[in-house]
Amino acid sequence: DSVFNHLVRAPEDPILGVTVAYNKDPSPVKLNLGVGAYRTEEGKPLVLNVVRKVEQQLINDLSRNKEYIPIVGLADFNKLSAKLIFGADSPAIQENRVTTVQCLSGTGSLRVGGEFLAKHYHQRTIYLPTPTWGNHPKVFNLAGLSVQTYRYYAPATLGLDFEGLLEDLGSAPSGSIVLLHACAHNPTGVDPTLEQWEQIRQLIRSKALLPFFDSAYQGFASGSLDADAQPVRLFVADGGELLVAQSYAKNLGLYGERVGALSIVCKSADVASRVESQLKLVIRPMYSSPPIHGASIVAAILKDSDLFNEWTIELKGMADRIISMRQQLFDALRSRGTPGDWSHIIKQIGMFTFTGLNAKQVSFMTNEYHIYMTSDGRISMAGLSSKTVPLLADAIHAAVT
Ligand code: PMP
Repeated sequence: DSVFNHLVRAPEDPILGVTVAYNKDPSPVKLNLGVGAYRTEEGKPLVLNVVRKVEQQLINDLSRNKEYIPIVGLADFNKLSAKLIFGADSPAIQENRVTTVQCLSGTGSLRVGGEFLAKHYHQRTIYLPTPTWGNHPKVFNLAGLSVQTYRYYAPATLGLDFEGLLEDLGSAPSGSIVLLHACAHNPTGVDPTLEQWEQIRQLIRSKALLPFFDSAYQGFASGSLDADAQPVRLFVADGGELLVAQSYAKNLGLYGERVGALSIVCKSADVASRVESQLKLVIRPMYSSPPIHGASIVAAILKDSDLFNEWTIELKGMADRIISMRQQLFDALRSRGTPGDWSHIIKQIGMFTFTGLNAKQVSFMTNEYHIYMTSDGRISMAGLSSKTVPLLADAIHAAVT
């Protein structure tokens, strides 16, 4: 008899489980809008040309080896990642007040940041928006933080519940950690305006809350790396402390390479260097040191202005295709006379549209139309193409009429 006989089968991950169900469906017209990964107009995964080019150079460079890299990752990668999110002329970088460590994509960066805070920060409560990326509560709970929520999305308006947000953060205990989606909020696609960000900043600073930004979509929301980093830079500009988890999964298409970074902006260079020494103690027993390949690709691209420019063009291409899918889906619903105001589809930002469809409507679309998405009605616009928009519009129309 197995020593694991007592185990019950665990449920499938609610997001990744959508793909599992999709793979089992034999229908030739099936459509997977659950996956948070970019697809081309032909429905294929995309490796950026600039990534292919740099990978060739790395392979041909025989001076490179496969030695362990430092616990904190590649120095160039870390420096350039901080520059990418905070801006080249960031005073925090110039004053050496930032420590950046290479981590396992966005998830790993959040986890390392969470464990560091659980160990060394005086307040162990983190506030997450409702709703948020499904993995957030699990990551921070297991890191040792206690999870609370603040109002974010208003189902009635399909927009931001700004009053609720200010009220909830306003009544959070002083010092609490606040998780903020830097741009392209997942799953809602609803972001504060810059004026609203400024009010959020004032509230957070006046209550001495600690901001922890999750930046999984820099450049993917608007097509501009700088525009999408504005909220983070607003908080850095006031001289206060904060954390940022960066992911290169979406904006460089490096999903499976697991490349990301955690930056902690501190009050002084001295504090930053002590923080870094403690981050090493968090990382070493977890996975010793991060992988070399993805970070080498990123460093090579960020370092070279021609490669960097190539990247920004390809990145804008991905963002623009997503924006055009929003318009096409909106137009298709309009032309069908589908009941409801669907303008949120073109107002929302980033990879996902939070359709407002309920779990029953979603399962109707899966059963009748072989269209797969998470049960909260979130669809990945990146999984759509001009060819599949009519099918989706037909399905939505049938689901709501
Ligand atoms: N945060 C958010 C909001 C996300 O949507 C994702 C990706 N789905 C991540 C973090 C982390 O992704 P990864 O670990 O692949 O970088």
